[in-house]
Amino acid sequence: MNILVLNCGSSTIKFQLIATDLEEIAHNSDRRLARGDIERIGGESIVSLRAEGREPERSTATLRDARAALDLIVHWICSAESGIKEVQSVADIHAVGHRVVHGGEKFTHSVIIDDEVLRDIEKCIDLAPLHNPTNIKGIVAAREVFGAGLPQVAVFDTAFHQTLPEHAYLYALPYQFYRRHRIRRYGFHGTSHRYVAYRYRQLRGIARDATNVITLHLGNGCSIAAIRKGDSIDTSMGMTPLEGLVMGTRSGDIDAAIIDFIGAKEGLSSHEVETVLNKQSGLLGISGLTNDMRELLAEAHENNDRRARLAIEIFCYRARKYIGSFLAAMAGADAVIFTGGIGENSSEVRAKISAGLEWAGLQLDPERNAAHSGGKEGVISADGSSLAAYVIPTDEELLIARDTVRCVRGAPQRY
Ligand code: ADP
Repeated sequence: MNILVLNCGSSTIKFQLIATDLEEIAHNSDRRLARGDIERIGGESIVSLRAEGREPERSTATLRDARAALDLIVHWICSAESGIKEVQSVADIHAVGHRVVHGGEKFTHSVIIDDEVLRDIEKCIDLAPLHNPTNIKGIVAAREVFGAGLPQVAVFDTAFHQTLPEHAYLYALPYQFYRRHRIRRYGFHGTSHRYVAYRYRQLRGIARDATNVITLHLGNGCSIAAIRKGDSIDTSMGMTPLEGLVMGTRSGDIDAAIIDFIGAKEGLSSHEVETVLNKQSGLLGISGLTNDMRELLAEAHENNDRRARLAIEIFCYRARKYIGSFLAAMAGADAVIFTGGIGENSSEVRAKISAGLEWAGLQLDPERNAAHSGGKEGVISADGSSLAAYVIPTDEELLIARDTVRCVRGAPQRY
């Protein structure tokens, strides 16, 4: 099957076209036919398209909305210009898989989208007011372009964490807030945590219920998950993606009383303070320079910038502290897995996070660690390290394509 994977943001659409089916999933022989993204939808949009094995194409176009952007993508995929042999017309696209941010408590795995599912995704808008509406626009646009007959599947960022036990997902707030408003930890990046735990299991040749790992997704957004017997039992992001680790522009954990305090001192509304915590904090806020880890590392090395060093230090300290607490939460783990732009590429950050975890049995091998960047997968701990460390590049699009196939074919979703 040729699966179109869509990730629709407020003014962007990212897509991949992946050829896969149950047979390909079993043999890891899925093929990526094309990928691309459209930015600044609603104005003069920037279009990047790339068919596998060809040079990337960049252009601009005036695209009014998600529908117009999707029309352009589908037209390009089917055209002779893209050179994708497998897809000559719209009929050669067999299903669409959507990344959907929030599935609330309703969605514990991926589902085929029908009117009822769409209504349930709408009900979660309250929990993800920025993301779910744009995901819904993408689903509606795809219905218009492909017709109601083409299967569309929703893959939720929150679904993997629905196995958290009550004691991990409830906040110690008055219980009626949970009952009335469903205020609880949902967790995000679920597709990424699930994918790397699955790859680890394949690399080790072990069963799902023998998979006991801590996964660190360190990108612009950062989160960590405790995975016991293949299930997520705790994670650092909360009701929203703001909680937990230090991120590019998000603070992660803070004392909740600070919000009112900043509001009073700086004359900001609570909404404005929340924007500061989401957009002006984290690596950017501490360094005063950038949210980009690669640039911060360069500043620290080349100019010995004190606040760049401090930002990196706080980032790594928070991650290490979470690894320690998750080891306690899950009564020990077999491996720590690094993924995301920072986790996959920065041996320095991985080393700083791991330093001081020797008591837990984690011993990195400096040469292996240095050799893993740019998409290389494998072990970075020393032989004999009782807590192993791996770098496993994430591939959320692949998992979305595979979930889409499994939903359409009626195969079990928990695998
Ligand atoms: P997103 O969460 O938006 O998908 P990514 O997973 O691509 O983002 O991660 C982006 C982060 O990865 C940025 O902070 C970037 O600086 C960092 N990064 C990418 N390559 C490197 C590298 N070689 N060394 C350090 N950080 C890197």
